[in-house]
This record gives sequence, C-alpha cells and structure tokens, in this order.
Amino acid sequence: MANNTKIFKLQGKVQHYTWGGTDFIPALLHLPNNDKKPFAEYWMGAHDNVPSEVVLPDGSLQPLNAFVKQDAAGILGKAVNERFGRLPYLFKVLDVKDMLSIQVHPTKQAAVSAFDAENRKGTPLNAPNRNYKDDNHKPELMLALSDFWLLHGFKAPQALVTILMQTPELQFLVPVFDGKNYHALYEMVMTMDQHEVDEHLQPLLDRIVPLYEKGFLNRSQEDFWAARAAKTFCEPNKLDRGIFSIYLFNLVNLKPGEAIFQDAGIPHAYLEGQNMELMANSDNVLRGGLTNKYIDVPELMHHTKFEPVIPDILKGTDGPVIGETVFPTPAADFELHRLTLKAGSPVTLTAATAEILFVYEGAVSASDGNNEISLGSGETLLATAGASFELTPSQHTVMFNATVPH
Ligand SMILES: [Zn+2]
Repeated sequence: MANNTKIFKLQGKVQHYTWGGTDFIPALLHLPNNDKKPFAEYWMGAHDNVPSEVVLPDGSLQPLNAFVKQDAAGILGKAVNERFGRLPYLFKVLDVKDMLSIQVHPTKQAAVSAFDAENRKGTPLNAPNRNYKDDNHKPELMLALSDFWLLHGFKAPQALVTILMQTPELQFLVPVFDGKNYHALYEMVMTMDQHEVDEHLQPLLDRIVPLYEKGFLNRSQEDFWAARAAKTFCEPNKLDRGIFSIYLFNLVNLKPGEAIFQDAGIPHAYLEGQNMELMANSDNVLRGGLTNKYIDVPELMHHTKFEPVIPDILKGTDGPVIGETVFPTPAADFELHRLTLKAGSPVTLTAATAEILFVYEGAVSASDGNNEISLGSGETLLATAGASFELTPSQHTVMFNATVPH
C-alpha cells in the first residue's frame, strides 16, 4: 500500500543567481535553457523560503517544510527532532562560473545572541544591512564534481610571507604580518581607506590584468584570480579590497570526488567549478569582499579565526554498505555519503532521519515494500526516519546521500 510508504520522490528548486553557469545544472536535471539563464544552485531541503516539494503517492505535491511539520518526530526521527526540531541540513548542487564573495560563518552560540540582538534593535529580516537571518551556525561540507577552485583559511606563515615577497605591490604588508600577526594584517587590509586600497591595488592590476588577458596566467596563481576579480567586481577608483585576501588565503584545487569542510570562523570563497554542498540549515553569512553586497567589517573581524589553516582534503572512508563512502565532519547537523552502485547489485539502506538521496549518474529503482520509485540522473529521493529500502541500480550509478551522523 503506497499510503504507508516512507519513500517519496522529491523535487528541488533552482536558484538563478547571476554567478551561476548556464549549462551544468540544466544538463544534470534534463531541463531546457534556451535563453541561457544562469542556473547557480539546486536546493534540496526544507528551508522556509525555498522548500523542496514532496511528490505524494496520489501525485500531488507538498512543500517539504510543511510535510515535516505534520509529523516531525516520525519524519525526522525522535533524536533529530528533539535536538533540531526541523530538518537540520540543506543539500545543494552548485555551478560556480563567477567567483563568490569571501565569507565567514558564525558559531552557533554567536549566531543565537547576534540574531537576538538584531531582532531587539528592530532591523528587518530582509534589510540589506542585516547580518543574521536566523539563529543557526552554518558549517559547510563541499564535494567537488569537477576540477574545483576555492580560497580556504589563512596561508601558513612561510607561504604567506613568500607570496607577499613575490608580489612587489604587496611587500608593504610583510612587516605588518611580522611572521605571525594574522589579525593585524587582515585588519589593515579590511579597514584601510578606499583611496589607499586603490593606491596599492591599481599598480598590481596594471601589471597582472594584461598578463591575464593574454592568457599568460594559470589557475594555480593568485594573480590569475586577482585579475579575474578585478574584471568582475571593480569600478574605477573603488577597487575591491577582497583582492588582498586572494593572496592571504590558501588557494585550493579539489579534484572530482574530493571534499573539504568549512567550520565557523574559517574565511573562504568559491572561485570556480561544480560541487555538491551540504550545510546546516542557515543563511548566516558575514562578507569580506569580492562582492557588491553589504560588508560589516567589525562583525567579520569578530567572527574570523586569525590562525593558519592547513587545508584538509577529504577523500572519505568506506561505509557499512557496499560502494558507500562516508565524509564525516565535526558537525552534528549533517553527514554526506556517496553511493557507487554496480548494475544489478542491490543495496539495502535504513534512513537515520529524513534523508535526501540525489542520483548524480545512472538509474536506480527504490522500494520499501509499499512503494516503488524509479529515479534517473538528476532525480531525488526522500526517505523518512526508519525507512528500510532497497536500491536496485539498472546501470553503474552514483548517488549522494544527505543524512546525519549515525
Ligand atoms: Zn560559506
């Protein structure tokens, strides 16, 4: 009886932010895009602003947030409902064509008090100068689907000094850093008057933008991204101070299948590529440049961890199911699993909470004894807490599974 089923097809929603690419997500989801609109993100989750739609057994649709609320303990499971009271994660596919802003996310504790303070001040939730959209932290895990480039945390001291010395226009920052003082260095570039920013960055850009335009720079060079940023964001006499940060942070290249975790306080920015992203269900972002959006420097400084970061590139560990790779992180809000399934070799899974399974490649049939659902590439399954279901792939299939640690 389909009425007792615990598995459902789920329909996510596309976000057409201007930085998105025009081809990757339409091809993945089998959607036409004849007018070449940017398809930046595909959201799978219960976020109140952009809930996915559950396809009910009678074919009707129900927003996932409303679906969860009607029986939160049953759908999320008792433990997750008691701890979070909502679907704790948000699952996305991203196609980054133009780089995103440099950002830092607050800790849970900081988000609770700052959200409350902004409410008491009466700053409307949708105000452009509002920092805190909710009371949650936003740790993020991303897994590369393509060659992926990002900025992630401050460089180690020696690497930082080396790049500053190699870049004549930035050598003035070496004594400020003094081999260790990340706070002084970042404070200087983030609080410098705009005319000083222009005085330092204009000669740099005058030197590197022509090299970029002639194709003499490559993606493993900070100069490449600084020149690209200048061409994307900068107005004359108002150069984006985020360009300094391109040199201060680790420039990281992930190969397909590699992942990286970004906890509270780690400054980061996505530069280019496609990924799966799994994060706590929050929209709290403090920005530090490469953007025309609102930047609150004191708030950004307050939440940034001023310490070197050695990027920890995660390849995952084998899970209990054949073909399963688990990407554990310190976050209790989510855990990403990848399933690589062989044609005709079924696997059985039990959902630890409301789990979302995205078919990246291949085709699979899902059955819980009450209901059978066929899924092709770009399609998504929702399994509610306790669902025991079998996945039977008809060909080589790769799926990404959002769940909680269990
Ligand atoms: Zn982020």
